[in-house]
Amino acid sequence: IVEARGVHKHFGTLHVLKGVDLVVAERELVFVIGPSGSGKSTLLRCLNRLEEPSAGSIVVDGIDLLDRRTDINKARRRIGMVFQGFNLYPHMTALGNVTLALRKVLGLPRAEAEARGRVALERVHLSDRADHYPSQLSGGQQQRVAIARAIALEPRVMLFDEPTSALDPELVGGVLAVMRELREDGMTMVVVSHEMGFARAAADRVLFMDDGLVVEEGTPEQIFGAPRHERTRAFISQIE
Ligand code: ATP
Ligand code: MG
Repeated sequence: IVEARGVHKHFGTLHVLKGVDLVVAERELVFVIGPSGSGKSTLLRCLNRLEEPSAGSIVVDGIDLLDRRTDINKARRRIGMVFQGFNLYPHMTALGNVTLALRKVLGLPRAEAEARGRVALERVHLSDRADHYPSQLSGGQQQRVAIARAIALEPRVMLFDEPTSALDPELVGGVLAVMRELREDGMTMVVVSHEMGFARAAADRVLFMDDGLVVEEGTPEQIFGAPRHERTRAFISQIE
């Protein structure tokens, strides 16, 4: 459902992605690890055209993202993204944040947007917090609202960039639990994260990136248990 081939990205003279291939099948959860600066976030941002690749091809759900004729806003509806920071509107309630996207992006009337927003909040176990403002929610709850906002648009694939790294340790579990439920419901997901326990439990495939390239990929057992490349081994031993 995601097919990225030979993706390059330059920032000026900085060559950040050096020919990355990423193919994700429907319902697959692909986990991306790698040192800081290796290009993980840039890759995810290319996958929904927040960054424009310098070369390569990216097709998501049959849509060529790099074709000039593609309506990128329409394509982005199929690609949900959740970042480290939750980026909620502070002056809107949880439900307000979720329904805003439905009204603005899909143009749904208020009642319909609210109905769908409530379903999305239920999926992240926050039905009882619908009328709370972000400042009245924990970081973990705010992140779950951000996930609800993304899934309310019914994307075909969800991209997560370090969704738990801004959270206090005791709040991480609730967010990972929601991500696991999403996966069990059949969502296709690409996850950049340092949560190796989650990767072992939920990932179908792990990619190790270093210096703008996918150095190695395999099942979690292979990558964590028997990495083939020296750089992968060094990285794994350092984080575990
Ligand atoms: P981290 O684990 O720290 O999040 P990362 O693997 O996500 O790292 P990226 O954020 O993709 O790494 O950054 C890769 C490289 O690209 C870094 O050297 C970074 O400084 C550079 N970079 C990222 N975005 C930009 C930008 N908008 N302009 C210039 N350089 C950038
Ligand atoms: Mg990053």
